[in-house]
Amino acid sequence: MMVVMKNTATEDQIKHVIEKIEEVGAKAHLSKGKYKSVIGVIGDTQQIDREVLEGFLGVENIVPISKPYKLVSSEFKAEPTEIKIGDAILGGNHFAVIAGPCSVETEEQVVAAAKAVKEAGGQILRGGAYKPRTSPYSFQGLGVEGLKLLDIASKETGLPVVTEVLDPRDIEVVASSAAILQIGARNMQNFTLLTEAGATQKPILLKKSFSATIEELFMAAEYIVKTGNEKVILCERGIRTFEPYTRNTLDISAVPLIKTLSHLPIIVDPSHATGKRELIEPLSLATLAAGGHGVMIEVHPAPEEALCDGSQSITITQLKELMEKIKPLAKFLGKQGY
Ligand code: PEP
Ligand code: MN
Repeated sequence: MMVVMKNTATEDQIKHVIEKIEEVGAKAHLSKGKYKSVIGVIGDTQQIDREVLEGFLGVENIVPISKPYKLVSSEFKAEPTEIKIGDAILGGNHFAVIAGPCSVETEEQVVAAAKAVKEAGGQILRGGAYKPRTSPYSFQGLGVEGLKLLDIASKETGLPVVTEVLDPRDIEVVASSAAILQIGARNMQNFTLLTEAGATQKPILLKKSFSATIEELFMAAEYIVKTGNEKVILCERGIRTFEPYTRNTLDISAVPLIKTLSHLPIIVDPSHATGKRELIEPLSLATLAAGGHGVMIEVHPAPEEALCDGSQSITITQLKELMEKIKPLAKFLGKQGY
């Protein structure tokens, strides 16, 4: 349930309600909006006498939350969450471009990609140092060495970095390089990882598993937000269907749907969704038109030499061309900053 406070409610009145909730062993989650404060009640709400609480000073009304996910739902918080990272804002009326190589390979490669992203007008650099590969015989990423190369690329360009963390034991070291911790599709339901990554209080990019429902994505995000970290960026990266032409099938309908159900930002990764370089531009523009808060794109200075995902990586020239199409469309759609 949610306790909606009047816009005239004082700090003491809010505190009093929280105390009452915690007295019976439930958890109170305060969300301060522009006009109103809302206190979400998580846990056993049976012990709470609704009528008594309704009579508390400063309380406007009490609303039950009908969904199994609470903290991430738009019932809980109507205002969209905006997350500021470097020059980029994820969420609200903003559109951010995250781009970079699938995996960090060499200093030359990642710095060239980072410079290209910066010059084209992208705001965040991506690059994997720890790679979740289907085959144990494939390139697994450079690990700590890769993080160091991301640090260099970030310093040279001023771009913040998003990079994946696969294992709770690596959270600390990854968090020392990353502005955003990525939790990949294969780990979407690794609940220990979600909780421990969330506890760093760093922004988390949570990729939807190729076999998860939207509700399962929300439940996974709930694990992170439950740690007190609301900075979660959701990412649609394609789902498994019977269509073999593409690596996965991009569920573009997930974008407007997620925006109605949750206050969290939703971006799209057209690279992993399709596996095909020629589909990146149309699907990035489709994401923007569908109301997505950004895209994450794989770009490589020499895709044919990439150690991972070369066929879905666009060239630097293609990135520039894409950005030149994103900018006027974003402006036309009234996105801030364009
Ligand atoms: C990635 O973005 O590097 C990646 C491995 O993506 P996903 O987890 O969506 O497969
Ligand atoms: Mn990849």
